[in-house]
Amino acid sequence: MYKRIVVKIGTKVLSNPDGRLDREVLEHIIEQAVLLRKKNIQVILVTSGAVGTGRGLLTLKKDIGSVVQKQVFAAVGQVRLMGMYADLFEKHGYFCAQVLATKEDFRDRQHYANMKNCFENLLQDKIIPIVNENDVVAISELVFTDNDELAELVATQLRVDAVVILTSVDGVLVGGRTISEINLSNAVSFKKHITPERSAGGRGGMRTKFSVSLKLAKRGITTYIVNGKKRNALTDVIAGKRIGTKFLPRKKAASYKR
Ligand code: GLU
Repeated sequence: MYKRIVVKIGTKVLSNPDGRLDREVLEHIIEQAVLLRKKNIQVILVTSGAVGTGRGLLTLKKDIGSVVQKQVFAAVGQVRLMGMYADLFEKHGYFCAQVLATKEDFRDRQHYANMKNCFENLLQDKIIPIVNENDVVAISELVFTDNDELAELVATQLRVDAVVILTSVDGVLVGGRTISEINLSNAVSFKKHITPERSAGGRGGMRTKFSVSLKLAKRGITTYIVNGKKRNALTDVIAGKRIGTKFLPRKKAASYKR
């Protein structure tokens, strides 16, 4: 049984086709996270959806440029997003904690240690840490990065047992069929079939998810890519049901040095 997991929730999972937050889906994901927490599995959520939520709320002047627009959307959307998480978790008697990070925070030794220490303490209590990229500052060469990579960094930092990537498709699809298991030896044969396109709302796309999952597998962390819109997707996959795609980890966890 897993003791600690990261669950990454993509923008498309969280939003309705019109771009607004899908409260029902979020409510159900939180229900599942609480169920796992009650089984003594520590859950860290990595959530997208700030930019998407902000975009649904605001109409901005075009002339401020797309990068600043995204920053503004993220800054406003993050509040709304976390408000919803906080409300929904509180109904179950849990608090949630907001952790906003950039990739640079994982490169800076002191920031890294501070963050890790905070996470460890949050996890001891009835608190669910919810991580997102700090989009207001995280712009490298005017390109935002994505939360699949952020989930990978957090998972490695906290030495979790598994990562569940909740997305809007049924896992890694090749020729319309879901590949149920990928290991380090057969990964190459599937990789070439993965198309680079991204979903309209999110940033990562299946290519990133695939390579993130593979990196995690190499570090001994089991990774699942499943359809987060489906009922019980999270609890089912953790219970060992064969849904979505499972990336089998290297047998013995390689000691990973930052
Ligand atoms: N941090 C972005 C947001 O909250 C999402 C990035 C991604 O889609 O990976 O909107």
